[in-house]
Parts: sequence; structure tokens; C-alpha cells
Amino acid sequence: MSGLSVPIPAGAFAPPASWELLSPQYDPWDPIRSLQQYGQHTLTSVELTVTHLCNMRCEHCAVGDSLTHTEQPHLPLDVIFRRLDEITHLETISITGGEPTFRMETVRDIIIPILKYARSRGLRSQLNSNVTLDFDRYEMIAPYLDVMHISFNYTEASDFHQVGFARSGRNVRETTTQKLYEQMIDNAQRLSKGGLFVSAESMINYRTVGKITEIHQLIVEMGCKRHEVHPMYPSSFAANLPVVSRDEMREAVEQLLDHRDPNIWMLFGTLPFYSCGTNEAEHTLVKRLASTPNVTVRNDPDGRNRVNVNMFSGDVYVTDFASIPSFGNVIDQSLEDIFMRWQNHPMQQAVNCHCPAASCCGPNLLVSDMYYKGIDFMKRKAIP
Ligand code: SF4
Repeated sequence: MSGLSVPIPAGAFAPPASWELLSPQYDPWDPIRSLQQYGQHTLTSVELTVTHLCNMRCEHCAVGDSLTHTEQPHLPLDVIFRRLDEITHLETISITGGEPTFRMETVRDIIIPILKYARSRGLRSQLNSNVTLDFDRYEMIAPYLDVMHISFNYTEASDFHQVGFARSGRNVRETTTQKLYEQMIDNAQRLSKGGLFVSAESMINYRTVGKITEIHQLIVEMGCKRHEVHPMYPSSFAANLPVVSRDEMREAVEQLLDHRDPNIWMLFGTLPFYSCGTNEAEHTLVKRLASTPNVTVRNDPDGRNRVNVNMFSGDVYVTDFASIPSFGNVIDQSLEDIFMRWQNHPMQQAVNCHCPAASCCGPNLLVSDMYYKGIDFMKRKAIP
């Protein structure tokens, strides 16, 4: 770990005192909550893509194909705020990229106004960032933010070099990436010390599968409040990377449960294991996940309680699934109308199962396509 830190006053980035703290019992990003509350899938989360620029080119990047070196102006913020105002049950806003903080103008003119909008409406916010840039920009953002979501798939600087710059198309020197690696860790530690909820996400893939518990340990040392773990699925840049088998994935999750720090919230997402599964080892794992304290399995939000808005074109996406490109545009349609149209789409209907006893509302489309081709989830039921 780096020792570069200049101390941040404790509590500088803490949420408003009256707000319910995010916890395994309170995760407003999980679509099961709105399903339980309203009796049907309801739009409660909006993700905004604020840039396609990034200083990194990770080999697994889920939006790698859309990264650019220049970009057009954003749509006026008023257009976005008007569409957000129309969403009755909105609870969360996520900001994503690229690296959202890549340009200071984006931080100042787009990110901070969005975060202030969220605070003024009592919405929880998340920023997806690699936190590798100078601390100043994160310090500007932190007082308005609820979750700083970072990616962490490394055990040392050389992993970061190999993973993070694999697709740069030029030779990035290891001494340069080493500095970014140290800055990333230092930034995460300082934000955590200031009271910000830093959530580090790792993916289970061919590189991390054998060292996921070591990665977990480093995340604990950075002071993160949550470790998110998702399998890597073969979309965009990751499309041609080696695939981890379901057995290897299950074993990695079991190892994490065996060796994790019980004081840190572990959130698993888009796992290919369900209560309706007939594989005994997987079924045992699903039960173990459900009964382990400080561990949650978040249902997939894509198209269930969330849409993504491209803040340049206004295009709205309801899923990462490649055959559903954009499903509408904020310039001439409301987000709730677009969301409702998607609810009736045959692809959403095919995975629109719900087993209340298992707190499960069906698989992610990519997962179902990859591991469960030909399986009709609407005919399945959770097995006690
Ligand atoms: S909700 Fe769907 S995926 Fe989940 S246990 Fe039930 S049938 Fe299986």
C-alpha cells in the first residue's frame, strides 16, 4: 500500500446525518425492493453515461468498444433533469463512463450539478470511477456523493499494468502505471477515511479466479465499506477473453466466503446460480449466500428497475444485451414510457420470473443466454 496520504478530516465526506445508511438491509439499487414495494417492476434507478473518454483501456471493459479520444458537447442538463423529474419513484442515480472524472469540465459542469440534484431530491448516488487521477477532483465530488464505486482486480502494480492498459494500442510504461496504481490506492484510502462509502468491485475471470481472496484482503486494507463481486461476461472488450467455468466460479465464491473479513459487506451480483437450480453444489452455495451475515446477492437491475441514458445522444438502453441497442431517446420520450415498453418486450418477459421466498427476480439476460440457453425460467420455481 502507498503511504502518500495527507489526512482528510474524519466525516468530511459522510452522508447527511438524517439519511438511512446503505447496508445489507438497505440497498436501493436492488430491483427486488421496488418489486416487493409496488408489486411490479418499477423504474427507481437511472444510470447516466457522462463520458466516453478514459485514461485506461482495461481488457475486460464492458463499454470498451464505445471509448473514444474526443467527444461532442453534452445535451443540456435541463433536458435530463426534466426527464428525471418525471420519474415518480426514482431512488438512485448512477454516473458512469469511460472515466467520468477524466475532464475537469465534466466534473464541474455535469457531475456535481447531477449530484446536487440527487441530494436535493433525497436520491442516493453512485459514481463509477477508476480513481487513478489527482485527488482534487474526487475531493470536489465526495461531499455530494453516496457511493464511490471502483474496480479492483489486482494484487500488485504489475497486474494493474497488464489488465488496465491491455487495449491502449500503444506502449504504456510500467513506471507510469505504477504511479497510477499507487495513486488509486491512496485516493481510495483517503476517501474512505473521510467517511465516503467506497465500494470496490472485482470480477471473477481467468486472471482473478485463483487470487480472489488476496484481492479481497487488499480491498479490506484500503478501508472500503463493501466488496462487490461479479463474474465477467463476454461482452465488448471481454468478448474474446478465456471463460471461467461455472464450477470454477462456484469454487471462487466459496473461497471468498471461507476467507473473507466478516466485517465488510460482500455483495455478489449477476451470479449464474439460482434457487431453482438442480445442481446440488450450486444450490448449497445459494443457501449459504442467503444465510451468511453481511453478505447479499443483488438481483440484476438491468431493465428491472434501471435504464441507462447516454448524455450526448439522449439514447436510452435497457440492457447490456447486444441485440437490444437503444430502446428510445429522452429528447422525445419519457423514461417511464421507455421503461414500460421494455417490460412488455418478449426478451424481458422471458426472464420475468419471481420467487418471493428466494427474494429472486430472475436472471440477467447475458447470463441466461450464456449458461441457460433453451431453459424457460418462467416454468421454474425456487427449490426450498
Ligand atoms: S425467480 Fe427465476 S431464477 Fe430466481 S429462483 Fe425463481 S425461477 Fe429461478
